[in-house]
Amino acid sequence: MSMQIRETTSKFVKVRCPKCKNEQITFSKAASTVNCLVCSKTLAEPTGGKSRIKSRVLEVLE
Ligand SMILES: [Zn+2]
Repeated sequence: MSMQIRETTSKFVKVRCPKCKNEQITFSKAASTVNCLVCSKTLAEPTGGKSRIKSRVLEVLE
């Protein structure tokens, strides 16, 4: 999995996979689809400037 950092103001969010309950940290503005590292379920997908988070956001990290 690769991510591109296009904006320095991007926030990190901690999300929980709804399928396997894995928790991982991702960008709130990911430039590419974010998949669960455990089960490969799509957790977020890019929609223009901001990612659509498809999983539960546990925490927003500055
Ligand atoms: Zn998962």
